[in-house]
Amino acid sequence: MRTLNLLFVSSFLIISCNETKEEAPVTMQKESNPGVVSAYTAEKYSGPSPTTPEDTEYYEPVPAKVTPVSAENNVPSDAEILFDGSNLDAWKSVDNGEAAKWIINPDGSMTVKDGAGDIETKERFGDIQLHIEWKNPETPRGEGQHRGNSGIFLQGKYELQVLDNYDNPTYVNGQAGSLYKQYPPLVNAANPSGEWQKYDIIYHAPQWDKDGNKTKAATITVLLNGVLVQDHTVLYGTTEYIGWPKDEKHGDGPLKLQDHHDNSGVSFRNIWVRKL
Ligand code: MG
Repeated sequence: MRTLNLLFVSSFLIISCNETKEEAPVTMQKESNPGVVSAYTAEKYSGPSPTTPEDTEYYEPVPAKVTPVSAENNVPSDAEILFDGSNLDAWKSVDNGEAAKWIINPDGSMTVKDGAGDIETKERFGDIQLHIEWKNPETPRGEGQHRGNSGIFLQGKYELQVLDNYDNPTYVNGQAGSLYKQYPPLVNAANPSGEWQKYDIIYHAPQWDKDGNKTKAATITVLLNGVLVQDHTVLYGTTEYIGWPKDEKHGDGPLKLQDHHDNSGVSFRNIWVRKL
């Protein structure tokens, strides 16, 4: 309303004073669409309104060509493969930094080796697109948090929960698709026990200035089996089992997979990442 009042007063003054006959500036939605990074700058969005289709078209920079996922190809051409079934060379043990000792299966997947501990990538990441597929045992083991529990830790600190939740109630901010102890999934899109599930994740890392002041919180968008379960969720901090989230400055971090130490039998396959 205040904006409308200002516009009304401004228009009245312009008409009254008859100072200019130029067309009023047309300001497009830069503020409401901050994701736009292109040849269109704030200057381009102002001035006289465009009068031809060509006025609002541009041709550079040209987006790079990427071969997408298809029936024949399960990794985009510009993705970095973290696990394709052949080896665990991209991973190491969190406990001692030595070679990851999880089990590689003939079907191109790997399974948590109970007691071997968490594994993490040797490489560290910031903003990423991540694809990862996982499966719980066909015959459920245990109940609640002890049925198929693992987890995917972005930057080694923020857990996207892996759990068998097809028919297994637990606290909702700890079920599959949750950001552990912070946000439940929007819906339960889990497949039955024994079926492969897939996460597609867009993660943006938190940022701090040189004085240690947080300038941007971590955000995460997640699709579980093609269904949106986290929609640009803003993380408070680390996903703690006990206690409040911790919000400490950090840089790039590894991708970590959890050994929950309860014979979960969780398997993973087809893990790839694209840096953003
Ligand atoms: Mg977990």
